[in-house]
Amino acid sequence: MVKTTCCYCGVGCGVIVREDRNGQITVEGDKDHPVNKGMLCSKGMNLHYTVMDTSDRLLQPEMRYNRYQSRQQVSWDQALERTAAVFKTFIDKYGPDSVAFYASGQCLTEEYYVVNKLIKGFIGSNNIDTNSRLCMSSAVVGYKMALGEDAVPVCYDDIELADCIFVAGANPAWCHPILWRRVEAAKAANPDLQIIVSDPRVTQTASIATLHLQVLPGTDVVLHHAIGRILIEEGYIDPVFLHANTNGYEAYRDNVMQRSVEEAAAICQVPAENIRQAALLIGEAKGFMSMWTMGLNQSAIGVNKNLSLLNLHLITGQIGKPGSGPLSLTGQPNAMGGREVGGLSNLLPAHRNLENPAHRQEVQAFWGGTTISDKPGLTATQMFEALENGSLKAIWIMCTNPLVSLPDVKRAEAALKKAKFVVVQEISNKPETLAYADVVLPAAAWIEKEGTMTNAERRITYLPKLKEPPGNALPDAEIICRFAQKMGYHGFDYTDAAAIYAEHCALTAGTNIDISSLSHDTIKAARSIQWPYQQQGTQRLFTDGKFYTPDQKAVIHSFPDVNESESLSPEHPLILTTGRIRDQWHTMSKTGKVGKLKQHIPQSFIEIHPEDAVDRGIGEGDLVEVNGARGSVRVKAQLSEKIKKGVVFLPMHWGKILGNDLQRANNITSPMIDKKSKQPDFKYAAVNARRY
Ligand code: SF4
Repeated sequence: MVKTTCCYCGVGCGVIVREDRNGQITVEGDKDHPVNKGMLCSKGMNLHYTVMDTSDRLLQPEMRYNRYQSRQQVSWDQALERTAAVFKTFIDKYGPDSVAFYASGQCLTEEYYVVNKLIKGFIGSNNIDTNSRLCMSSAVVGYKMALGEDAVPVCYDDIELADCIFVAGANPAWCHPILWRRVEAAKAANPDLQIIVSDPRVTQTASIATLHLQVLPGTDVVLHHAIGRILIEEGYIDPVFLHANTNGYEAYRDNVMQRSVEEAAAICQVPAENIRQAALLIGEAKGFMSMWTMGLNQSAIGVNKNLSLLNLHLITGQIGKPGSGPLSLTGQPNAMGGREVGGLSNLLPAHRNLENPAHRQEVQAFWGGTTISDKPGLTATQMFEALENGSLKAIWIMCTNPLVSLPDVKRAEAALKKAKFVVVQEISNKPETLAYADVVLPAAAWIEKEGTMTNAERRITYLPKLKEPPGNALPDAEIICRFAQKMGYHGFDYTDAAAIYAEHCALTAGTNIDISSLSHDTIKAARSIQWPYQQQGTQRLFTDGKFYTPDQKAVIHSFPDVNESESLSPEHPLILTTGRIRDQWHTMSKTGKVGKLKQHIPQSFIEIHPEDAVDRGIGEGDLVEVNGARGSVRVKAQLSEKIKKGVVFLPMHWGKILGNDLQRANNITSPMIDKKSKQPDFKYAAVNARRY
């Protein structure tokens, strides 16, 4: 029996896993875990099927010498020696930026740490990004700009202490279910808890809301500014906090006063009265919490959406107090752990900044490798653009499936086809990337390796190994370390994952996320610990009103409220938004194996308002072609008054089925990205729909 953590979403539920004498695995929620107290959602309850069914597992390294050959099974040494030889050739000929690693928010912290160290500290490029770029990067930039660092101020215990929760652009009832059960329980215990939801769809989350604001996609900043204006006009701001602990209020006030609430209501397509009610609920609250995910983050103005929400906390002083503050809901289980080790192309370990020469020097001296480049690396979408234009020669894809998850995915697929050398490190033989792989490296899955993860409330947990991986699969960190040694680099001969973690902890000393006195053993003993950690974990940040900016004041930013997504046209007049469904996870390489999880929604669909459907002669269940400037999908129609007129919804999960990509939503999503965070705009693409 082992106590571990669910490997799906960023809620971070505690799980007890047992294996009997016959190898049968069972899972149950850990009643003693502070996050879930024994509860698991449908995905968590079915985790055991994903590890028991090994029929799709990659078991042996494979390799080919050219694209005209099929891959052959080879030894680990053969695969890694050839990969090292190819990487060295490209680095010598074209420089270190000719290679890149594209990893995942599902990697363990130790895995992130070694791959980040490898490319930044030894290869000498910052070309490492992860699929967290698609998920949280706008929140990261928002936190850094407003609070001085990528630091979630609150903890889950604040849910029970809040009396107003604003859920913006998120459906946690489906996407973070166990956290939402806590909100539902808090509401049941305290009927005065006010819940505001802003979403173009009437989701299950909205079903318990005091107030649902069915906003038009792309108008969140307008909405938040209008709420800010009312808070100011009605005297709900905190002048003492504003004066002592923030900068930028006057410019913000002047900015939000430029648009009337009625104008804002017309732009957002919600009644002005409802915006006023939302502002009053927030203003009257003793504890005001906000939660958000992709509706704010995945946008061409994702950072502005984040900042405009953070501003509501700053002008009211509702941060750093019990029951108050912003909680970004992490999509992936360890997106936060990845950020802690600096696992994005513009970050350094322990939240150090790549653009800071002193920070680069500190890390370089610690690692003892090559000079850390001051040039930010390629981000997720930029990597595929660089493959397309030939400047990037080799890409190593680790634990992620970009040919389902990237926007404008047909272009990404064409780019991958042009790559000179592709390495795919994976557990499953299903991902579409394998068709383009020159080298395939079989990886160990959840409970077949050990390491740590950090959930959305900064809670670090240890995940033990319960069973051996099948075949010759290896833990991801070991694969990277073996490769680094084949490259001739020192400093990768760790005895185990605990040694990697010890090095990561040491590198955090003196930073705002200091966990230098932590170790695997300390976390095991405590079950879970929140960072920063000295003698004990820290539930809340900024309780003293001091932020991580140079003058310790939070920054209230001002900016225009215009959306910068692609424009609608007579040819493509509908707004496409994509998202998750309750029982599937990302690109379905794990949840897609579980029959029970397919029962909820077995195939993709388009949700469309009945009036939009009637205009196009579309009936319930009809096959519909949804087309945009970049391609099309063909799925069945689901007519629903729960989606805003003029907006259609596609689930993000489906990729190619028997080579057919007609259910793949990202065929038609927009290639636009936020200028600051480089996060793609999955929530706004111009499309049309017709009966097929
Ligand atoms: Fe796993 Fe998230 Fe469900 Fe918890 S809420 S069981 S972490 S998928």
